[in-house]
Amino acid sequence: MKNFDNKQEKTLVLVKPDGVQRGLIGETIKRYEQCGLKLVAIKMTIPSKKVALAHYSVDPEWAFKTGTKSIEAWKAKGLTPPTEDPIELAEGVRKQLITFLNSGPVVAMVWQGMNAIGVVRKITGGTEPLTSVPGTIRGDYTIDSYRASDVDKRAVRNIIHASGSIEESEKEMAIWFKPEEIISYRLISEAIIYDINLDGILE
Ligand code: ATP
Ligand code: MG
Repeated sequence: MKNFDNKQEKTLVLVKPDGVQRGLIGETIKRYEQCGLKLVAIKMTIPSKKVALAHYSVDPEWAFKTGTKSIEAWKAKGLTPPTEDPIELAEGVRKQLITFLNSGPVVAMVWQGMNAIGVVRKITGGTEPLTSVPGTIRGDYTIDSYRASDVDKRAVRNIIHASGSIEESEKEMAIWFKPEEIISYRLISEAIIYDINLDGILE
């Protein structure tokens, strides 16, 4: 049997300081848990600047993508972005994110399951609260905008970080967890989610 849509895929999720302060730890865990993903690591920690810096390290590709995404969001609303240079915009965002992550406790988690990275991002919703779709965590529980956060020079309050790719998730898991803190175990529900012959239900 081929392991299509990798059932062991792992993704790193952070409930950022705003999510913790707003009492949304349980709600976010509930949503990922109830969709069928498996929690394999969890901790509460106040990230040092060093950890925050490692998490949002200078990756030119990330900087270009994040800056471009933000500039496009400004323009889509008929507004003029603070700068036309994506790298300059992203560099400001990175500094704000480090300050933000370092401001209080966060909950770091690893979720595992089929297409975990994409599934978590679907449930989490789009990055900018103003346009994230209702039904997603960001769509249901946030109201911030890039305009407000960029003018105030602070990170947008969007509750969650979730890895965007396998490369990101591998890099990020290594920052937040030691290998032995990521637990390998079987969950009973996996039988009904993934099994082919369904021979474990009837007595
Ligand atoms: P995350 O990586 O946190 O899961 P994401 O992948 O949806 O979110 P990225 O483009 O990677 O979004 O941006 C990382 C984070 O940077 C966002 O979650 C947000 O907190 C912050 N951010 C991005 N753009 C802006 C902006 N224009 N102003 C303020 N903060 C921003
Ligand atoms: Mg990202």
